Amino acid sequence: MTYDPNNIFAKILRREIPSHKIYEDEHTFAFMDVMPQTEGHCLVIPKQPSRNLLDADLDVLSRTMAVVQKVAKAAMKAMNAEGCQIRQYNEQAAGQTVFHLHFHILPLNTGQIVKPHSNKMADHAVLAKHAEAIRNAFG
Ligand code: 5GP
Repeated sequence: MTYDPNNIFAKILRREIPSHKIYEDEHTFAFMDVMPQTEGHCLVIPKQPSRNLLDADLDVLSRTMAVVQKVAKAAMKAMNAEGCQIRQYNEQAAGQTVFHLHFHILPLNTGQIVKPHSNKMADHAVLAKHAEAIRNAFG
């Protein structure tokens, strides 16, 4: 399996398509998922290309997970969530639809229902508001 540089997240990294950015550093980028499964559902991706976890460089993975932790805490705080799920899919058989490594962060409260994966496009004004709230929640 090879990496296709025309996948949607590679285009977001190249700013060929817009996104609601939350965080960026030399190696990592975080932004809102356009079809959120919970309020504040966001994604963390490494800038280095890999299809998914299976072909990722270990140093890249380690740096990415540090940002996943940072963004997860901020997303929970911003959404007043008691917890969060981190989801990550590898290959089509396992539900992966975009073939650039990414970690989903889903802020959650007790009893809250997670909407289906890749279901409904959110209002951009709401995504912008949530991105701002998460950016403002970094410690
Ligand atoms: P996967 O199924 O590969 O784990 O997840 C891909 C995720 O990317 C889905 O949750 C989907 O909602 C999200 N997504 C798909 N296209 C776009 C897009 O153009 N922009 C953003 N921000 N998210 C996207």
